[in-house]
Amino acid sequence: MAEVNRCVICVRSVLRRRHHVLSLEFLESHRDFVEYMFGTLQQQQEIIFDGSRSICHPCWQRIDYGLRHPPEQEAPPMPPTETFCVSGLTRAANTSRRCMIDDCNNLELRSVSGTIKAYLLSYYRFYIPPLARICQHHLRTMTWEDFSQNVTQRQDSFNGGNIHDMLDIYTQLLERKKTA
Ligand SMILES: [Zn+2]
Ligand SMILES: [Zn+2]
Repeated sequence: MAEVNRCVICVRSVLRRRHHVLSLEFLESHRDFVEYMFGTLQQQQEIIFDGSRSICHPCWQRIDYGLRHPPEQEAPPMPPTETFCVSGLTRAANTSRRCMIDDCNNLELRSVSGTIKAYLLSYYRFYIPPLARICQHHLRTMTWEDFSQNVTQRQDSFNGGNIHDMLDIYTQLLERKKTA
């Protein structure tokens, strides 16, 4: 069968099939389509738009669909938060839902002051993250020695944000000293 009777894309016969003649008019009126069509070709291929060649309707539909529905740009995957352990260093869970001391259901919760955080970090190697809370009762009655020992779910994994927060704890303390 002569090449002229075959679809320029899939080379199937277009004789008894609905097809679109690749004329100069087609080229003029379907510039985007033609550009996209060339982009889909497996091999570099010359297509002459003199009305002698054509494209079958299924190929036309496929290209038209691809032209109207460009593949969505996939969002780059978020890098996983890296956690690491630091020998001898533990921390409380970063949650404000309950008092950080074991089995405490008191609802009167407070955040822990920077001074206490720095003290526990310095002398007990215990870090209290920003969201961690303690109840009024335990804040008043707990000794520092007991403190880090009685925390629910002492954790030993840290991330970069924790390190920045630790530095902020000391920075704020220095700033306060400066203005004192
Ligand atoms: Zn075809
Ligand atoms: Zn408590």
